Amino acid sequence: MIDNLDFKNDYNPLIFYQRTYDFLKNEKELTENVLEWLYCNYSNIALDALNIIDKFKVKKVISESNQILYVIKNNKIEKFICLPDVHYCSCDKFIKQVIIQEKENMCEHLLSAVIAEKIPLKIKEINLSNEEFAKLLMSI
Ligand SMILES: [Zn+2]
Repeated sequence: MIDNLDFKNDYNPLIFYQRTYDFLKNEKELTENVLEWLYCNYSNIALDALNIIDKFKVKKVISESNQILYVIKNNKIEKFICLPDVHYCSCDKFIKQVIIQEKENMCEHLLSAVIAEKIPLKIKEINLSNEEFAKLLMSI
């Protein structure tokens, strides 16, 4: 367990994202302590992320050469692509609040992709050829 993130001092979204990403990657499951930490540091983003996972909106897409991306269904038409390894989500909120304004270090989609691994029954896995995977990436 790491300390809660201090958003007030020298806030650098990428550094804080990396800390969260590393921390969650090392936790085997979503224990009470991890959930509490998530609420403490991400409040509404954490709630929205858990809601996304609970509604089976996270798809893990794996290429032949084992590259991974996540597709998060937003509504009937809109989908976002998340690349947790490189700190990216294709949604507008990520571009505005994370990249441009540096107000947040991730959106609910990216957080849902990071924590979905801890709840494997809630994510659907899809295997694609390298060509199909590349096409999906280029559709962003
Ligand atoms: Zn997003």
